[in-house]
Amino acid sequence: MKPGKTRTGEKLPTSRRRDQLRPIEFVRGFTKHAAGSVLVKWGDTWVLCTASVEDKVPPFLKDTGRGWVTAEYAMLPSSTGGGRKDRDIKKLRQDARSTEIQRLIGRSLRAAVDMSKLGERQITIDCDVLQADGGTRCASITGGMVALQDAVAKLVADGTLAKSPIIHRVAAVSVGVCDGKPTLDLDYAHDSTAEVDLNVVMTDDGRYVELQGTAEHKPFTESSLDALRALARQGLRRIFTLMGK
Ligand code: UDP
Repeated sequence: MKPGKTRTGEKLPTSRRRDQLRPIEFVRGFTKHAAGSVLVKWGDTWVLCTASVEDKVPPFLKDTGRGWVTAEYAMLPSSTGGGRKDRDIKKLRQDARSTEIQRLIGRSLRAAVDMSKLGERQITIDCDVLQADGGTRCASITGGMVALQDAVAKLVADGTLAKSPIIHRVAAVSVGVCDGKPTLDLDYAHDSTAEVDLNVVMTDDGRYVELQGTAEHKPFTESSLDALRALARQGLRRIFTLMGK
């Protein structure tokens, strides 16, 4: 596919500068039953992230005094523009992409928590994509972090925890090379034509949790990677401000 064109042939949107994020909004307390519930609106990508707390841990953590944070991810049938997406239950197995993404969300959010301070309880972050336009994993990690913060704040407020086990906040953003130029926060049109695609998960003190980078067409250079990392770092500074404490 030619750079600058999407799968359906339309031109890439030009309304956004290459170093500009899409508008990002966190609607906290979106649903009432979960301990943390956040609707992330990240441009046209919308994800509902909830955090549920249970007094149980996986068997390998039983009687260790340590807790666990895990995640589940799914795209709703009407979340994509390409026609209805079957729910996984229809195939009686989760699709590989969802498995990969939910493991990334879980790993990323575990990096934010001191498990010995969480105690023997599990927090599950459920990320349900209502509408997808690229970057659903980054929106899930970032929104999941806000939901996790809210759930932990409740545990502290009701006296279950004496102190917050959150060590630092974690957030994620995608960057890529589009039309030969480093570009921040890829939407679907950018993502589907990007020459390089890099998802960056970072702590609010500027350290990396995970980097997922792929050359879709031709291998990329060290200097291209440096430029992408700098762009991601700049975007993430802004995202941490938007997330709130
Ligand atoms: N997508 C889709 N249907 C799918 C998988 C992906 O419409 O079954 C679209 C969706 O917009 C998604 C984008 O492709 O956000 C990029 O998907 P990718 O697997 O790269 O993950 P993401 O960028 O969402 O983290």
